[in-house]
Amino acid sequence: MQNQWNDKDAARFTSLLEQRVYTSRLQGADSSLVLHGGGNTSVKVVEKDIFGNDEMILYVKGSGWDLATIEAQGFSPCRLDHLLKLATLEQLSDTDMARELQLSMTNPSAPAPSVEAILHGLLPHTFVDHTHADAIVTITNSKNGEERIKEIFNSDEMIIVPYVMPGFKLVRAVAELFLEKATPKTIGLILMNHGIFTFGETAKESYDRMIELVGRAETYLQAKSAWKIDRTTSNSSQVNKKISSKQTLAELRKEVSILAGFPVILSTYSDEDSMNFVHRADIETVSQQGPATPDHVIRTKRIPMLGRHVEKYSQDYKKYFDEHSPHSSQTLTMLDSAPRVILDSDLGLITLGPTAGDAAIANDIYRHTIEIITRAEMLGGYRALPASDLFEMEYWDLEQAKLKRQGTPKMFAGEIALVTGAASGIGKACVASLLARGAAVIGLDLNPTITSLHKRKDFLGIQCDVTDEAALRDALEESVQCFGGLDMLILNAGIFPPSRSIAELSTEEWTKVMRINLNANMALMNIAHPLLKLAPHGGRVVVIGSKNVPAPGPGVGAYSVSKAALTQLARVAALEWGIDGIRVNILHPNAVFDTGIWTEEVLEKRALNYGLTVEQYKTNNVLHVEVTSHDVAELAAEMCGLFFAKTTGAQVPLDGGNDRVI
Ligand code: ZN
Repeated sequence: MQNQWNDKDAARFTSLLEQRVYTSRLQGADSSLVLHGGGNTSVKVVEKDIFGNDEMILYVKGSGWDLATIEAQGFSPCRLDHLLKLATLEQLSDTDMARELQLSMTNPSAPAPSVEAILHGLLPHTFVDHTHADAIVTITNSKNGEERIKEIFNSDEMIIVPYVMPGFKLVRAVAELFLEKATPKTIGLILMNHGIFTFGETAKESYDRMIELVGRAETYLQAKSAWKIDRTTSNSSQVNKKISSKQTLAELRKEVSILAGFPVILSTYSDEDSMNFVHRADIETVSQQGPATPDHVIRTKRIPMLGRHVEKYSQDYKKYFDEHSPHSSQTLTMLDSAPRVILDSDLGLITLGPTAGDAAIANDIYRHTIEIITRAEMLGGYRALPASDLFEMEYWDLEQAKLKRQGTPKMFAGEIALVTGAASGIGKACVASLLARGAAVIGLDLNPTITSLHKRKDFLGIQCDVTDEAALRDALEESVQCFGGLDMLILNAGIFPPSRSIAELSTEEWTKVMRINLNANMALMNIAHPLLKLAPHGGRVVVIGSKNVPAPGPGVGAYSVSKAALTQLARVAALEWGIDGIRVNILHPNAVFDTGIWTEEVLEKRALNYGLTVEQYKTNNVLHVEVTSHDVAELAAEMCGLFFAKTTGAQVPLDGGNDRVI
């Protein structure tokens, strides 16, 4: 455990709150301490209220903020008096606690305070740090965990808190233990199966203690030969990765989506660490015990699913919940029994979530869980929380989610779209429109810049020549490994060759245009069909056609014919695929000038040809409006949405009105 404190950096953070920001970020940057909002920090400061009176304010991490990137405004200002008064109550429901925490704030527009706010308030020190450090969680989740903790830490410096679910019960438990056991030497608390608190009078003191105490736990693991994980590949993990798994994965995603009640993203990892873990001889016992710390429960669910038996998992889940939950089975209907982690000996580690970001978080968390389980097993045996606590936690988190009033999910949340010709022009705009509607998007393009078009979890850019069928197959395989299936296909890639009369047109040029604008789309539709068939909300295809289909012009024979043939192919697909619930619609744009081929110079030349200004040329249509890539992309995205839910085989012009088309 490295202490990252740096005097020079720290000097830039002057006030107490700024110092709080600095050491919070240091801890947030270390994923073995803090993972995806898994920790929280606070500082107590004196401030003047509106009447000029001094009051003690607890600035505690606000919900929705990540310690790694937190700013001063990410801390919620709570009146300490109010928190301490709440701590004296015998009982406080989750709903009441959430409301009271909000009421305690001096700034109503600050983020909601962490549910652990009262705990921070109770501890009398200026700075309080709380993490779910892997090393602490590993030891507290091991056989004889409590004895080991007592071996590592002196009883006068550390108070051990038996597992209590986060929430008001934990507040009461800590309040009582602290009152009873705290000495002037106390510098921290260990929460069994949960994490660690440290505190101090300065940001540095509290941070140093966190690093030192967690470091001691790491040293203990090293001394017990429970630190270094054997990463050599076992024979059993030499799975044939050449075998196509996209169909299996898409089927699995569909099953889980039905169980969840909404489409999910499914990400598959078959790297050595994942394969080694799924091939452990004791995988059934070690993986079926539940997550390591309460805040992992929801993101990775109660227990991972072993193998691909979705139906059985769901039934077991409901059965266990019925047996162990103190809540009525009515609450069952509020829980989705879909797994968030699947361990499969052939496929590897699979993580799922309502968005690509959620699936990625489940992966991050589960990789830490794998390390924790592996080390705890080396230490003497992994011992997770009993099932009843996990269900209680899951139910509780559900309540918390309700309190947070989550907004309605985006239109394409959990769905996957593939766009060809995605690096520029209409294709690039389609990617943006689909991402904005919540879809995970795969962009294919010949241009290598596609791989870095967006740096986000819900975008995958693949350099690909669409006329190469093998490359298309590989791209689809990679896409399904990444997101789990295919719901929407935007056929956009195409070329617009220089104007040429039929008398001048070579067979080579004709064939080239057909290969790119027509044959490649036929091949992709052929490969994509079995995947689109498995789309939880039905597959959707949008073909970017051209005004040249209904209204061809001289000199564009190859282009017009290729787009007309593609349109005809799409119409046949609409007829053939209706039975599979797949909709195929066609968009005919015209005069979209904000693309790469239309430089200012070319535009001026063209306009001059017609005796028009560039502006007049761009808006030379019935409505006198300019048509942009964004306009085309928005309509293409909407054609995948609800407004077009009962439309297939349609051809919609997007040209500002063209008298030859009308
Ligand atoms: Zn915690």
